[in-house]
Amino acid sequence: MNSDTVHLELSAVKTLALAALLNAGCNKANATAIANTVWKAERDGCSSHGLFRIPGYCRSLKNGKVNGEAEPRLERTAPSVLWVDGDGGYTPLALETMADDFAELTKSQGVAVAAITNTFHFAAMWPEVEELAKRGLCAIACTSYKPCIPPAGGTKPLFGTNPLAFAWPRPDNDPLVFDQASAMMARGDIMIHARDGVPLPDGAGIDKHGNPTNDANAVLEGAQLPFGGYKGAAIAMMIELLAGPLIGEQLSLEAAENDLEEGGPTRGGEFVLAMDPKKTRQTPITGGNAERLFEAIAAQEGARLPGVGRIERRKKVAEEGVRIPRSLLEEIEV
Ligand code: NDP
Repeated sequence: MNSDTVHLELSAVKTLALAALLNAGCNKANATAIANTVWKAERDGCSSHGLFRIPGYCRSLKNGKVNGEAEPRLERTAPSVLWVDGDGGYTPLALETMADDFAELTKSQGVAVAAITNTFHFAAMWPEVEELAKRGLCAIACTSYKPCIPPAGGTKPLFGTNPLAFAWPRPDNDPLVFDQASAMMARGDIMIHARDGVPLPDGAGIDKHGNPTNDANAVLEGAQLPFGGYKGAAIAMMIELLAGPLIGEQLSLEAAENDLEEGGPTRGGEFVLAMDPKKTRQTPITGGNAERLFEAIAAQEGARLPGVGRIERRKKVAEEGVRIPRSLLEEIEV
């Protein structure tokens, strides 16, 4: 384990990220949107999508793979479909640009899809669904990556780690949110295990010969396994289709074929589906049987709602700040 770490106040996370991104060639609008996304990850205790990602973000800006001056463009391609062309930039500015229009569209139509294309996704997904739920909407979002997970029964990576996020609005409470990779572990966490020399839990992956292993480096060379066996593989496949062919974007395998493999993200899309309970049930969500379900979950010994851990981490980070490896700070400091 790398014990040479540095303490940072949460506010310093945004400043550091912003400076590094601007230095790597991003304009202010793009750099600010990405820095906010990185800050949200660190704020919520998700180091695998926080400052850890900045070197990759910067590499792909410097080599011209990603457009640091992207100007996302919105188009209504059907009454309830918002199509977003990210202009070859990182996803955060595309999400920011569409946020108001998409929420309004969902409220007017009852249900809406955002087809985000031509972007590079390198982040956790709860911020976008949480934001929609704070506006009273129920939301699902997913994106693909590059091949990491084999199909059920196979040994060669084909599906991305393909996260799926879901949010449900709650009265007088934080929205219920879960956000999970289709892989048993997010790739960023496997990379952090490899960096720190920490063994992986059983079931996280296989080596390049198809043998189960706890060695993070061997899994990075081999394949990650889906959660829940063939069931997780089916979810990963569904996400390939929703965030790829459905919206005119690449599959993970195509993203890898067209990638520079320099450690940054691949080009891809994001699929977002939002629903307005005021329309689907003709009333706002005022609690009712959803809250009954949440109470029944929390009442069980050992059980908790997804997202509660993240909110607790948020409180802890607000009090204590974050710790990052000194080597990472040196890499991103400009
Ligand atoms: P985790 O396995 O850490 O958590 C997945 C979800 O399960 C969270 O919502 C978590 O809530 C919830 N959860 C965890 N433990 C419990 C429990 N005991 N009871 C109830 N709920 C629980 O996440 P992953 O490692 O799968 O993914 C990490 C991040 O990586 C995600 O944010 C994802 O978006 C991101 N990612 C991004 C990719 C990209 O290409 N952009 C690719 C793959 C992943 P809580 O937070 O409260 O613990």
